[in-house]
This record gives sequence, C-alpha cells and structure tokens, in this order.
Amino acid sequence: MHTNTHTGESRQSPVSVTPRSASLPGLLARQIVRGPDAPAVQDGNRTYSYQELDDWSRSVSQALLSRAIRPGDAVAVLGTRSWEATVAVVGILRAGAVCVPVDAQYPSAQAAEMLTDAGARLAIALPGHEPVAAAGDEPVGWEEFDALVRTRPTVDHDPDVPSLTERSAENCAYVLFTSGTTGRPKPVLFPHRAVTRLAEGGAPWCPGSGKRVLQTFGLSFDGSLFEMWATLLNGGCLVVAGRDVLLDTEALGSLLRAERITHAFMTTSLFHHSVRTKAGIFGALDMVLVGGEAMDPGLAAAVCATGRPRHLINGYGPTEGGIMVSAYDVGHVAPGASSVPIGWQVAASSCHLLRADGSPAGPGEEGEICIGGAGLALGYLNRPEETARAFVTLRTSTGESERLYRSGDLGRRGSDGLLEFRGRVDRQVKVRGFRVELDAVEAQLRTHPGVADAAVVVRGNDGIGKGLSAFVTSADATRPVRPAELRAHLASRLPTHAIPAPIHPLERMPLTGNGKTDYAVLRARAAAPD
Ligand code: ADP
Repeated sequence: MHTNTHTGESRQSPVSVTPRSASLPGLLARQIVRGPDAPAVQDGNRTYSYQELDDWSRSVSQALLSRAIRPGDAVAVLGTRSWEATVAVVGILRAGAVCVPVDAQYPSAQAAEMLTDAGARLAIALPGHEPVAAAGDEPVGWEEFDALVRTRPTVDHDPDVPSLTERSAENCAYVLFTSGTTGRPKPVLFPHRAVTRLAEGGAPWCPGSGKRVLQTFGLSFDGSLFEMWATLLNGGCLVVAGRDVLLDTEALGSLLRAERITHAFMTTSLFHHSVRTKAGIFGALDMVLVGGEAMDPGLAAAVCATGRPRHLINGYGPTEGGIMVSAYDVGHVAPGASSVPIGWQVAASSCHLLRADGSPAGPGEEGEICIGGAGLALGYLNRPEETARAFVTLRTSTGESERLYRSGDLGRRGSDGLLEFRGRVDRQVKVRGFRVELDAVEAQLRTHPGVADAAVVVRGNDGIGKGLSAFVTSADATRPVRPAELRAHLASRLPTHAIPAPIHPLERMPLTGNGKTDYAVLRARAAAPD
C-alpha cells in the first residue's frame, strides 16, 4: 500500500450547497449510453464517436491498472489537445486516478518538476511528444497504450476494470498548476465537483447533441477542462483546433464556417486578437465564452454592433475557485463604458467582497473577491502554509462560516448584485494567459550584480496577449548592463513568459513627486514605438 495524497476523502465541504455526487466519468457513462454513435471528437479529418471514446479510454484505464496504478494515484498526460489527449484524460479518470495535464509548451525540465510536485506515478506522452518522467520514474510513450488499444484486450470481462461510476464528486480529479512567477508553480488539487457543476445542462455554455465546439485551450489550463467536459457531458462534439489556425484570424474564420462551429471557449487575449482583426467573426455562433483577463469594453461594443454570437459570455474565475465562478452574458455595452461586468455568481459558486479586515464590503464599495462554493479547490498539494494563507474560513455577510479562497482580485457590486472587476490588490498581471507578479520579476532583475534598480511594466496589446518591458539602471555608470546578458541571467530564474523583452537600460529611473518609481512614465515609454 502506498500513501494516497490526492483523494481529499477526509475533507468536509463546509459549503451550504450539496454537490451532486457523480464523478466526471460517471456522468460521461450516461452520455455514452444516450448516444453511443454520436460524434465526440473531431481531430483533423477523423471523427470519433462516444462509443470509441468509451472503448479507447477503457483500454487506457486497463493499461494503467496493469501497471499497478490505483485509485487516487496521480498520472500525467504530456502533449497537446487531440483525440489521444481526450482518450488519455478520460482513461486516467475512469481508472480512478488523478489526472495531471502537462501541456507540450513546457520545456522538459519544467515538465519533470511538475510531475514530481504532483507526485505523478506515471506520465503518458502523447504521440509526437518526448516522454518525461518524475524523479526516479520511468517515462512511458503513447505506443504502449496505443498497442493495447489496437489489440483490444479482454476489456469487457476484466473484473479489475472499475466501473465508470466508482469515484465521487468530492474526490480529487486533477492536479493543475498555477502559473506563478517565481519558485515552482503551485499544484492545485481539483475535485470532480468543480468541473461537473459547470457542465450541468441548461446553461448557454453546455453544448448539447448536434453542437460543435472549437477546442482551443492548452491542456494545462483550467479552461481546457471546461471546454472538454461541458461538451462531453452534454453530448456535443469537440473539434480540435491547431495552434496556427488560432493565430490566423482569416484561417480561423474559414474553420468556423467550414466546420459549422456552434460554441467556442477561449482566452480573453485570443478573443481580443480575433475581433480586433474581424469584429463579426463569431457572429454565427451560439456561444463564445471568454475569460482569463478583463474584457476590453471597446472591442466588446464593436462585437455587439457588428455580429455578436447569440451568447457572448465574460467568464471570471481563478483556478483555485473552480475555473469560472461568475459570468456575464454581454448583450449591450454602453458607449464609453470603462469595463465589462463579470456578472453574477454561477453554478453553486459564491463570491463575497471583503474589506482588508475581513468584514463585508458595502454596496458600491470595493473589496477583495473571496470565493466559496462547489467549485473550490481542495488546496495546494504538500503546501500546508500556502494553502492556509490562500484558503481561509471566514464569517460572511450571512453570518455563516464558509471556506473561501482569497483571490487577490478587487471587485465592486452594484445594487443589483452585478459584479465588476476592479483590478488586483497586488501587481499580478496576465501574460499570454499566465499569471505574472511584476514585483517578482523586478526582484530577479535586481539579483544581477550589474543592476542598481529595475522596473517592469505591461506593454499594450501586441498581436496576441501582452508582453513585459523592463527598465534598468546600472550599478556602475561606466559599465552599463547589457540587455542580452540580463535575459540570459533571467532564463534560469523565470519561466519564459515572465522574461521581459525588450529590456531598456536607463541612466536614471523616473520618479514621482514623492520619490517613487513613476510607472506611468515607463508605461508611456514602453508603448511608444522605438
Ligand atoms: P484563468 O486564466 O483560467 O482565468 P488563472 O487562475 O490563471 O485562471 O487566473 C485567474 C485570474 O485571472 C483572476 O484571479 C483574475 O485576476 C483574472 N481573470 C480571469 N477572468 C477574468 C475576467 N473575466 N475579467 C478580469 N479578470 C479575469
């Protein structure tokens, strides 16, 4: 017997809602029975049915069991969104194991760290991806699973294959990583209920039978779970989108038409990039759900004026709160609006606005968004102190104690309860979908002996997503520090998305009247063409 750190069985959910008890594969089983021949995944020019998903994933789960994987063990899947990725994820979960999705974009050294931190006992490399293993483990290529699937072992009669419904909604389903700036990303324990609650039919983001969903998210992002499970638990079909198509708006428009796409989930930066080039691009869709960053009200207004999908949804939520905790169906954006609301809490989530002392903020007053309810993560794996800092039990305005995640986001609520995103309590920003703390990047720049001072700002939108610009002064004015040298210095200390480019050497840092770094001047400088 080995110790199981992923199950979360002993935790009591202190929330007032009663989460439904079925697990992700348990709910999928119903869909397979309902429409076995319906298309589940289209990858390139091949389409796979729900029955094929059942057969293949069952074989993967059997292969895992034959390698002594037991319920609650963590198993990683390395690669990109694809039919095989879906099969592997479903196979891992139906074996009762915990899935650790690691996107192909992570360099192997970082992927290996993630596997180690997640306690992965096995890592399945998808076709075309280098096998990577956690410290001390053997890597496994896709061939082994593929071979098993092709020979179709005695899957139907093997008593060791657990039934699809064996796990419950409270058990841990995934380990996802927060995209921290320094140190190692934190492994978040994610229960089945955090995802199943979002896939309950009836909501505009639940694509039912006959609906076709563009699959856009990298495997490691929480959005990937949302698009995959909201589709598969409602009988829709996932249409895998290649990365090149997503970055080329013309190609994306053609794909949406040719593949008769009805639903799409995407990052705010991809949405901005697409509608900036072609405002009406999503006009024929039933729904586009956008999240990860503040939606640009000007672009949203342009989309509403020139071809809005039937539902354009601004979804808000940090990973730890359960992917999406509030949502706003954007019907109309008032001219000159400074923001697009993040809506009302959804799917058994709760959002409280609290003052710094923990007391509830009043109507119209800004407060930190603290999240409770059925989407809440179980905590960070093996990080009790960070878990205790971020997940707190507080008395809310209703007078009840509730376990809440302190998001670090600021919000404000109108008298109708509509939530508005008001920025951060700290200097965390998003770069290409990853969380980055600007203070941490500056601190790393200052560790270089040639640097006296450093300041980092977000550069306006350039193509897809934002970039960072750094400004540095040199410790020795006669030997100005070189940007290339600084970038090499940062390469071993920060993930690629957190390394600023360009880095501008300055003779002196601009200061405000009271002697602080004048970030407004630096932001204007970063936005100016060189
Ligand atoms: P994701 O990128 O999947 O939303 P992360 O945990 O990486 O999840 O980042 C969550 C943070 O992103 C939130 O705490 C918030 O700062 C920001 N965010 C997410 N959605 C929105 C939104 N619709 N509007 C404004 N900020 C958002």
